[in-house]
Amino acid sequence: MQQDAQNQKQFFLGRIRFLVRKHVPHLRKIILLAIFYAALAFLYSSIGFLHPEVSHFHEYTGPKLFIEILGHFSFGFIASIPFWDLEISLLTGVAAVFIDTDHILSALGLNVSGRPDHSFLFVIVSAIILFYVVMRSNFPNSFLAKFVFFAPVVVFSHIAYDIFAVPLGSSSTFQLFIPFSFAEVSFPYDYWILFETLALVLSFAGYLFARRFGGKVEESTSITKFTREIDESRVEEQRRTTAGEARS
Ligand SMILES: [Zn+2]
Repeated sequence: MQQDAQNQKQFFLGRIRFLVRKHVPHLRKIILLAIFYAALAFLYSSIGFLHPEVSHFHEYTGPKLFIEILGHFSFGFIASIPFWDLEISLLTGVAAVFIDTDHILSALGLNVSGRPDHSFLFVIVSAIILFYVVMRSNFPNSFLAKFVFFAPVVVFSHIAYDIFAVPLGSSSTFQLFIPFSFAEVSFPYDYWILFETLALVLSFAGYLFARRFGGKVEESTSITKFTREIDESRVEEQRRTTAGEARS
């Protein structure tokens, strides 16, 4: 009975050790990636200087700002669930909030055009730059394969919440073709469903892409590593018990 309890304790300790060793270095890279995304989104927004205009956007403060952040995080997180990767989902949620760093220049009173990060070109530019950075950062293949779809999921889920957050029945406008055209494209309220669905479909495509091109090998490797870790802790426990018995 006592032996069983000890085995169980060893099993859980082994499992915790395994999860910490596996995730901590990875998590550090994810946090750095989030910071990099924020810097990229902010720097890209300086494209707004190409077409100076007086900002007509209102900025949120206090509890409304909190709701805005929570809303963007939730829409990003939910849209990325089909990736079936908690780290990518957390990163998507955070990155969806960072899209709005393109409000900073106009909030500082500078005459820049609209919201350049809410555009197709930002999707393409950020996808290329992020993929290059992730490829050079030694992430597993499955992560890389899913990450191909990351940039559009972030932007589309962000636009989905922007449309969702306006008063029911009104429409939202975005300069989707910045810097080629600064014309505002208007979307009716229900279009938030379309954008969020598009983001969900893209993350599911990422999941399928990863299964096809990078998932299987790593999955079996991590299971093997975990099993080995548990076995090692059991052997160690048995060795200690035998040594204890020999002494007594
Ligand atoms: Zn926005």
